[in-house]
Amino acid sequence: MIILSGGTGTPKLLNGLRKVIPQENITVVVNTAEDIWVSGNLVTPDIDTVLYLLSGRIDTGKWWGVAGDTFRTHETMISSGFNEGMMIGDLDRATHIIRSDVMRNGGTLTSAIRKLCGALSIKADVLPMSDDPVSTIITTPQGKIHYQDFWVRDHGEPDVLDVSIDRISDAAIAPAVLEALGTDDDILIGPSNPITSIGPILALPGMREILKLKKVIAVSPIIGKEPVSGPAGKLMRACGYDVSSVGVLECYQDIVDVFVIDERDTAGVADFGEAGCKIVRADTLMKSVNVSVELAKRMAGIFEGM
Ligand code: GDP
Repeated sequence: MIILSGGTGTPKLLNGLRKVIPQENITVVVNTAEDIWVSGNLVTPDIDTVLYLLSGRIDTGKWWGVAGDTFRTHETMISSGFNEGMMIGDLDRATHIIRSDVMRNGGTLTSAIRKLCGALSIKADVLPMSDDPVSTIITTPQGKIHYQDFWVRDHGEPDVLDVSIDRISDAAIAPAVLEALGTDDDILIGPSNPITSIGPILALPGMREILKLKKVIAVSPIIGKEPVSGPAGKLMRACGYDVSSVGVLECYQDIVDVFVIDERDTAGVADFGEAGCKIVRADTLMKSVNVSVELAKRMAGIFEGM
């Protein structure tokens, strides 16, 4: 199974999935459009959350960073007058240094992540969507800013006029992702932000055409009229989508065979019109690992029946 992932909602589902199917049978294709160089190292927030989840080190309170990490380097830099714009934990920074060292020596992001997977004894294949750098850019009334400046520095507060992905039309799907897509037909789009997490993966040239030929299940990150967390609502609205599972399906309509909405969702089948896919209801609110496991079992069952 290939899972398309951002850094919060889909990792929660992966937390269940890794208990339902062997990790060796899981490929995670992760968004890289939120990546950014900070203090000399490449930070890949979504990939790192997946790495820390699969190696049992994730801080499940925040869904980023290593559980129990300290921030002594960051604090020392701040007190020395160095304005590091992102809170980076000491153990987390080690991951960034290893990755960036591979890349400074000419390695691809894919090879850097494979090295980290080896070091962390991760058996699933965790793959960046592309080895080419791309960035999500938020247009605000004050101008264009990187997604991390919008979300981390400005706490998601600026009004959003538009969202674009810089350099996406020149980016190639990572060769390892193409290889995985050549042998695996089951694609799970997890409950991640459809604009800034799944959007960049689907915007890679050729990706939608490949996925149209696959068995694709997508899980809605919106329940009722609100995302479970994060800025998906604001960003969907800015891109002209209704903030609802109906709006999410609009983002995926051309590729999805089965669309999973939450059992609490107020949308009825009629709201989806001629969706062209099957609508399934499930408990998708993953407040505990048990809910994640049950949802993962359901997804695996749907693939079996397809
Ligand atoms: P990011 O990279 O940190 O933005 O993380 P993602 O894009 O992977 O995840 C953010 C999305 O996950 C948000 O739109 C949330 O609504 C959604 N999400 C978070 N937790 C859950 C959950 O338990 N269930 C569902 N259905 N969606 C969730």
